[in-house]
Amino acid sequence: MKKYNFGAGPSILPQEVMKATADACVEFQGMGLSLMEISHRTKEFQAVIDEAQALFKELLGIPEGYSVLFLGGGASTQFCMVPFNLLEKKAAYLNTGVWAKKALKEAKLFGEVVEVASSADANYTFIPKDYDIPADADYFHITTNNTIYGTELRRDLDSPVPLVADMSSDIFSRPLDVAKYGLIYGGAQKNLSMAGVTFVIVKEELLGKVSRPIPTMLDYRTHVDKGSMFNTPPVVPIYCALQNLKWIKAQGGVEEMERRAKARAELLYGEIDRNKLFCGTAKEEDRSLMNICFVMKEEYKELEAEFQQYAAAAGMQGIKGHRSVGGFRASCYNAMSIEGVQALVNCMKEFEAKH
Ligand SMILES: *Cc1c(COP(=O)(O)O)cnc(C)c1O
Repeated sequence: MKKYNFGAGPSILPQEVMKATADACVEFQGMGLSLMEISHRTKEFQAVIDEAQALFKELLGIPEGYSVLFLGGGASTQFCMVPFNLLEKKAAYLNTGVWAKKALKEAKLFGEVVEVASSADANYTFIPKDYDIPADADYFHITTNNTIYGTELRRDLDSPVPLVADMSSDIFSRPLDVAKYGLIYGGAQKNLSMAGVTFVIVKEELLGKVSRPIPTMLDYRTHVDKGSMFNTPPVVPIYCALQNLKWIKAQGGVEEMERRAKARAELLYGEIDRNKLFCGTAKEEDRSLMNICFVMKEEYKELEAEFQQYAAAAGMQGIKGHRSVGGFRASCYNAMSIEGVQALVNCMKEFEAKH
């Protein structure tokens, strides 16, 4: 049976990306060796990381003065690396979910943190809009897509201080005005690659301004200076990212990724709103195109487990909602086809007809 992977992360990747990565793990570019066993200092791997960085810049239109880094440690390590490198006295954070809160907690180890607004009291069902960003903050941190709660900020905000964004789960799903950001980071395992690599896009002029000493590996300048090759980078995940970047380019770039994301979301939210059994959890204007969260209406709550089983039997994988929201979450990253979403919608319609 065909399976559709709606898992939140690690998550779906295009078949050809996984195939190309698997092939390289057996035999890399006719070298008679696996990608896993060659030195990262070979000219063959240097070409991989160079091309991945170049495609990153091309696809997102990254201006001069920014570096693209491929690091280890996940987005969670960035929660501390960002303040380590950028927070001298004070930083501002927008609290829009569990990940935002974790980032905020780490920043407190380095200085004063102002939470400019929070939707915690509403279980993060919306993204606050009315707040002031202190003009004397070293930076303002946002989470553009709240993977757990299914809310998303799909515009590039204006900020009086450098804007720092966790884009773990929506990078490459829309065109970005990178010039509006000081730093963008994310774990790759949602919408870019397999688990194991973390990307950072950083405006170089922001670095080297804090007075504290920074351990070598946690200092962005180390990785900017050495082109992410100060130590051994996660070679296979970087190769996988390169395959996916090539795939995105061949499909028509981030504009086409956005068009598909909107088409998928329109189809699924349309059904959620129409179907008598289900309702969405996020405020409409903040609904994520990437992680679509929905529950069963109060009067049908007892059917949730049954729908879960019904959908799984029809090939829908990973639609169980995060425990802090409950219900269902259909993650619709770049590689999810409209057919996959249509299959889920069909399940919802059939299930409605049964009840
Ligand atoms: C998954 C996720 C993280 C955590 O990423 P790791 O790479 O596992 O540390 C952080 N932020 C967001 C928005 C996420 O979706």
